[in-house]
Amino acid sequence: MKIKTNKQLKNYINGEWVASTSGTTEKVFNPATGEVLAEVPLSTKEDVDLAVKAAAEAFITWKKTPVPKRARILFSFQQLIIKHAEELAMLITKENGKNLEEARGEVQRGLECVEFAAGAPTLMMGSVLPDIASDMESAMYRYPIGVVGGITPFNFPMMVPCWMFPLAISCGNTFVLKPSERTPLLAERLVELFTEAGLPNGVLNIVHGAQDVVNGILEHEDIKAVSFVGSQPVAEYIYKSAAANGKRVQALAGAKNHSIVLADCNIDKAIQGIIGAAFGSAGERCMACAVVTVVDEIANEFVERLVQAANEIKMGNGIDPDVFMGPVIRQSHLHRVKNYIELGEKEQARLLRDGRIDVRENEKGYFLGATIFDHVTEEMQIWKDEIFAPVLSIVRVKDLEEAISIANKSEFANGAVLYTSSGKAVRQFRETIEAGMLGVNVNIPAPMAFFPFSGWKKSFYGDLHANGKDGVEFFTRKKMVTSRWF
Ligand code: NAD
Repeated sequence: MKIKTNKQLKNYINGEWVASTSGTTEKVFNPATGEVLAEVPLSTKEDVDLAVKAAAEAFITWKKTPVPKRARILFSFQQLIIKHAEELAMLITKENGKNLEEARGEVQRGLECVEFAAGAPTLMMGSVLPDIASDMESAMYRYPIGVVGGITPFNFPMMVPCWMFPLAISCGNTFVLKPSERTPLLAERLVELFTEAGLPNGVLNIVHGAQDVVNGILEHEDIKAVSFVGSQPVAEYIYKSAAANGKRVQALAGAKNHSIVLADCNIDKAIQGIIGAAFGSAGERCMACAVVTVVDEIANEFVERLVQAANEIKMGNGIDPDVFMGPVIRQSHLHRVKNYIELGEKEQARLLRDGRIDVRENEKGYFLGATIFDHVTEEMQIWKDEIFAPVLSIVRVKDLEEAISIANKSEFANGAVLYTSSGKAVRQFRETIEAGMLGVNVNIPAPMAFFPFSGWKKSFYGDLHANGKDGVEFFTRKKMVTSRWF
């Protein structure tokens, strides 16, 4: 097993590992143990320049590489991911903290993105209308756009980068990736595997770091498009800055997802689904369930059983096969989350389950047990903000209409779920809820790679979503040719 530890990370530019020009680094921790896994450089704009230069040069030949040949490299990459799936999953658990089963699921979701991208020969096709007028035809040709910059969050170190670079590259672009400085190891392994699959130098580059690298990407005139996934304030900043600098941008942002539980649902399945969605990955998912809105009719029974189920959650190092919930990502995040729990108490939500008491004394990892607040209202800050942790709010309502109207007050709108056995309720939910990814009796309705990841409101900034045909549109530009032959 090839897990790198205690090493000084380098940038990957033009097929080589290159030391950053910055002397500043940040520690990468295993959040379950507090162990230092590596030191990541906080690279500079000069490092970005080097990577973009390499990517711009590689673009000249990569865009002309026949599409089936590009696709074949994607197929080899796909095979290598399958071969190394367990190693990749272990690495995810180590640097992110989610349990190994969830990490395996993440590898699978990343793999599906690569598989979708390998369809480039079909995805890149244009279209022709032979008779737009007499003896005249019109044809649409599709081309790559150039160098693309990608900026990713800590919570899906494999899946989210795989939303971006495989499709961008199979469409003929070259790429500069800035992985999260908190989970930078997985991206390194992916670039190694892609290179082993035959990817030419300069097509995929990694520049590690934080704000300076992001600004370097946003300001660089040779970067034509920016794909971002992360928190809402940063997404809004990226969207505005990239657009002001004349770039295409898609910025996927934060969330506060609601699950609505009606009296006619299968309550066992609803509880099972909500426990998974609220506390799996320690609540650090953009599709996590953060609020459960339950109808009064079953609220007491539902809440009692939910707390019982939460009491059974096993917390610990995700490498242990029995562990359901790992740590949160950093000590600083844990501190922020504990402040939110105090705030919830001050706001007079009823703290039904306090995850702070689940933590062993002298614990080195950043652990917090499942935390549940009842009688939360939409005026409370704990209802409004994305806490991004295993902290669940319960709102009690009289009916579906009230539940939907409350959910629609959220400024976020990634996902929403309805638990019911009523087709009529499903229709009402589908037609009136303001969120982009819906689930019916399904806990985390994240779309697969061939559909768009379609958040609404402040959960997404831009026009074309990540993945699916939207992704192909985002990573390509069109040329229209109108011809008359005499
Ligand atoms: P983050 O916004 O802190 O960081 C994301 C990226 O932006 C990182 O690469 C980071 O280095 C960079 N960054 C952070 N602050 C910056 C700043 N001030 N200026 C420029 N760049 C900056 O997000 P995170 O904590 O790594 O990830 C969690 C967030 O991502 C949550 O809000 C979650 O909902 C969101 N997320 C959204 C989706 C989605 O599809 N909508 C998917 C996954 C995660």
